[in-house]
Amino acid sequence: LLQAEARPIIRLEEDVVNRIAAGEIIHRPANALKELIENSLDAGATLIKIVLKEGGLKTLQIQDNGCGVKASDLPLLCERFATSKLRDFSDLSRMTTFGFRGEALASISYVSAAMTVVSKTKDSDCAYRASYAEGTLVPPKPGQSATPKPCAGTDGTQIMAEDLFYNVPQRRRALKSAADEYNRCLDVASKYAVHYGGRGVGFVCKKATSHVTDLSTPASDAATTLDTIRLLYGSSIARELVRLKPRRVSSLGFSVEGWLSGANYSTKRTTFLLFINHRLVDCAPLKRSFEALYGSLLPKGGHPWIYLSLEIDTEKVDVNVHPTKREVRFLDEDDIIEAVCEHAQDCLAGANSSRNFQLTQ
Ligand code: ADP
Ligand code: MG
Repeated sequence: LLQAEARPIIRLEEDVVNRIAAGEIIHRPANALKELIENSLDAGATLIKIVLKEGGLKTLQIQDNGCGVKASDLPLLCERFATSKLRDFSDLSRMTTFGFRGEALASISYVSAAMTVVSKTKDSDCAYRASYAEGTLVPPKPGQSATPKPCAGTDGTQIMAEDLFYNVPQRRRALKSAADEYNRCLDVASKYAVHYGGRGVGFVCKKATSHVTDLSTPASDAATTLDTIRLLYGSSIARELVRLKPRRVSSLGFSVEGWLSGANYSTKRTTFLLFINHRLVDCAPLKRSFEALYGSLLPKGGHPWIYLSLEIDTEKVDVNVHPTKREVRFLDEDDIIEAVCEHAQDCLAGANSSRNFQLTQ
């Protein structure tokens, strides 16, 4: 409805602002899960367990064995722009943690009907349980105190969000299928499990209604990245992968490594696991360049499987372009993409010629 006459401008109430901002960060359960996984990794966890009911829409629970939250910090935990990671604006150019804006937990508490946290630090005798809504501590039940309560618990943090988007019915309706949301959550967890599989962090993911886990990787250094890929994506893919050998290009301030499917593997849709500085991200120009590279390698309509881990000097990367921090921009983007693709082409060509060599022996 257009305004026929100019109407007065008013300031939105703070909780309206907060709810709108939360909706920009948390579109669906998988966004919330990604933020929670990154918090657990920031906390130094080596085991991250995820349990979902109705694809995370009914309950989304994550438990880690990380550093925990001090009882005295619990009141601020879900407040917007409250963080233990960023101190001033100049820190932004050298962030090594995933989070820094202090918006994720606030957002989740704004879009869920109830959020419960149980956390224990190593030097505390017990865990503390706290409930949150709209950014602040609330009583777990009407009439009870909102103050965090001591309880039994192991070192680390457990966070449970219930009834996501209960207060955003149009969003809730747009997310039709719990099965689809579950698969998106499993996709995020699988990708992190691959990247951290060779780095000593294990993941478990299951439905609340099921005894079987849909994803389970060990929390040890014994598993290699390729082991994890084989476990999660299958041996028919793992068998066809070519190592993207670790390579550093100092002049451009980046290094890269990964695994790529070769000329003998082709599928209907590209699988692209991209980590930049250990964060799962999208980079449309990089993906396009890889699709072009494979265009000349695979039969028409065929697509590759790609896992890339790029480390780019932190001052070159801008992770602040989008609220979800999903799409990443960096300095010298074209040059870095070109160098990565050239290196990939070399590795693929090398693998191909050694394969031909073996075949003719
Ligand atoms: P950010 O990660 O940007 O700091 P969040 O809203 O995601 O903001 O988290 C707020 C704060 O809560 C973090 O800075 C951290 O101190 C604490 N926190 C969140 N999750 C965990 C966790 N799993 N283990 C320990 N501390 C956590
Ligand atoms: Mg965070």
